[in-house]
Amino acid sequence: MKFDIIVVGGGTAGCACAYTGAKLGFKVLLIEKNSYLGGTMTSSLVMPAMNTKTKLSLNTDFYNELMSRLHNIGGQVTYPDGNIGWFNPELMKIVLDKMMTDAGVNVLFDTTVSEVIRNKDKILGIGLNDKIMKYIKSTYTDNINKENEILSEYIETTHLVDATADAKIFKKINLKFLNNSEKKYQPTNLRFIMSGINLKEFSDWIMELDKDRNVTTSYEIDGQIHLSTAYTWDKGGIKWALHPVFKEGIEEGLITEADSNYFQLFTIPKMPSSVAFNCPRILEPFDINDKVAYSKALKQGRESILRLSNFLRAKFKGFENSYISNIANTLGVRVSNRIEGKYIYTIDDLKTGKKFEHPVLISKYPVDIHSEDKDCSKLETIEQEYMLPVESLISKDYDNLFAVGRCISADFEAQAALRIIPSCFAMGEGLAKYLHCKDTKILGH
Ligand SMILES: Cc1cc2nc3c(=O)[nH]c(=O)nc-3n(C[C@H](O)[C@H](O)[C@H](O)COP(=O)(O)OP(=O)(O)OC[C@H]3O[C@@H](n4cnc5c(N)ncnc54)[C@H](O)[C@@H]3O)c2cc1C
Repeated sequence: MKFDIIVVGGGTAGCACAYTGAKLGFKVLLIEKNSYLGGTMTSSLVMPAMNTKTKLSLNTDFYNELMSRLHNIGGQVTYPDGNIGWFNPELMKIVLDKMMTDAGVNVLFDTTVSEVIRNKDKILGIGLNDKIMKYIKSTYTDNINKENEILSEYIETTHLVDATADAKIFKKINLKFLNNSEKKYQPTNLRFIMSGINLKEFSDWIMELDKDRNVTTSYEIDGQIHLSTAYTWDKGGIKWALHPVFKEGIEEGLITEADSNYFQLFTIPKMPSSVAFNCPRILEPFDINDKVAYSKALKQGRESILRLSNFLRAKFKGFENSYISNIANTLGVRVSNRIEGKYIYTIDDLKTGKKFEHPVLISKYPVDIHSEDKDCSKLETIEQEYMLPVESLISKDYDNLFAVGRCISADFEAQAALRIIPSCFAMGEGLAKYLHCKDTKILGH
């Protein structure tokens, strides 16, 4: 049993890679540990996809197709600023399923890789746990002999793509990470959704409160109110209209000072009485590979969500009858393990717009570094478009091992600009197209 591409991780970048690869004629297996696709977009409830702010576009076919299919079932809207990235995370799961089926991607949910088979300089394949191996061999195999005997102990692949966000395949075979030598950190968030909100009342109240439109927007799109607003304890030159409301909440003991460190909300297409929150932000730095610390952070996040929901019901107009309807299954992680690739992309490359022969994405998105300390977060505008080379997706040690998504070979600052959803889509799509060109010798490698 042999695949052309095995993608491990059916999240943002992994789905784009698997879909594009299958569309180009590759035999693709996509392995996902959750019971649904979408990764950070669905399990961490991270939305919207940010606007890359570029005139040029590269590897945007998957993104456009996904948003167009979501739009057809009401799960996507475009804001007046032209951002197409506003989506409904539950409908996203359904649309991704259908896209993979249509492209012919073989998807395995609830599955992780037990071992990576390799020789000195090549990845040969992967092992899954015994039960799954038996099942998948009888389903996809062309190498079971007459006696129904399994001929190979592992699933072979020509290319192995690590799209697990934390580079878990690289970790399994003990490859070096760039972050091993750094002590740099961005806080995680545990996102949630509240429902039962009177959005009209809330919109009127918040638009009056933030008369200067410092951070609040509200539009009617496709018959639904779409609004967003924010408050953080970072000044950033902004006068936060919600400041007195949060101050009152802290004084009355409804929320803690830490609960107020970062607060952002926005509406969701096809959920007319719901609002999604990009908070609470977990301040305490921890290593994402440390499961004890990860578990503590999750519990802290859920306690904070309960306090925030009580505060919102008490202080926000339109929230009087609201309730928590969804808490993200996983923490939203901004940065974790980053691989060492054939090329380490740096913040200088990004700021100077360095050109490369085989780019996978073009973007102008700012360097977005969240900090656990007051007034230390940074959103640095970039003057010109920058591109990421495919060599930052290729393992330094194995020519047929790749990484796509937030774990690519880039320094901490550059990763802080590259990690947004459209860029992760472009990495996945760009890698699949690169492999296709390479395998068909178009690139002459
Ligand atoms: C709090 C927060 C807010 C953000 N806000 C925005 C925003 O507003 N707009 C924007 O564009 N970007 C935003 N981002 C960035 C963006 O969402 C992520 O960087 C991006 O989605 C990551 O994509 P990925 O493909 O690397 O990982 P993921 O989408 O997380 O995919 C990884 C997949 O691998 C799977 N997996 C993990 N381990 C295994 C395993 N062992 N075996 C099999 N499968 C496995 C996971 O379940 C998951 O499905 C935000 C990020 C965070 C954390």
